[in-house]
Amino acid sequence: MLNLVLFGPPGAGKGTQADFLIEKFRLIHLSTGDLLRNQIAAETELGLEAKCYMNKGFLVPDSIVIAMIKTKLQENKDTQGFIFDGFPRTVAQAKALDELLNENGTPVSGMCCLCVEKDELVNRLLTRGKTSGRPDDQDVSIIENRIQIYAEKTMPIKDYYMEQNKYHMIDGMGSVEEIAHRLIDTVAAL
Ligand code: AMP
Repeated sequence: MLNLVLFGPPGAGKGTQADFLIEKFRLIHLSTGDLLRNQIAAETELGLEAKCYMNKGFLVPDSIVIAMIKTKLQENKDTQGFIFDGFPRTVAQAKALDELLNENGTPVSGMCCLCVEKDELVNRLLTRGKTSGRPDDQDVSIIENRIQIYAEKTMPIKDYYMEQNKYHMIDGMGSVEEIAHRLIDTVAAL
């Protein structure tokens, strides 16, 4: 069982790279951002609540995303592994993920952090916003807020995984294929 946490700031390319990893390692992709956007599209109560946070670039409360991940883990007990994309985003979420995975005896195998310069992140997100239709990709102040929240709330997770010797830094600059090769080599060695 391979449980991979794909980590990095907004615009680092987590979703794009997850596609390569899924194909190579046959993992189930769990993106909390995608799951939340599905809820918004379906106009569920959860989606309506999440939308207020997401459209401004704030994090959705831990309880909501942890419950969503718990359901997905229960629904996919027979998989070879998971790729967690955009989750965990707080230390509380990282601890909750450990607890959920430990119930099945299948801990996090490693955390790969895609590192990208800030100017490049803003450019990538604004470019994606032209076609993604995502409100949070179209406004520089919201993008800046997301990057700021990543630094404040999400970056501390790096230490959490470092202490467990599970942190792997990946250079996220360069072509999509170059980055995919770096990631695949790292994951294959886990
Ligand atoms: P993403 O698609 O990963 O860029 O996520 C888009 C937005 O969804 C984020 O800016 C947050 O508002 C929300 N979100 C996604 N994943 C999480 C999470 N693990 N914890 C809290 N909020 C999240």
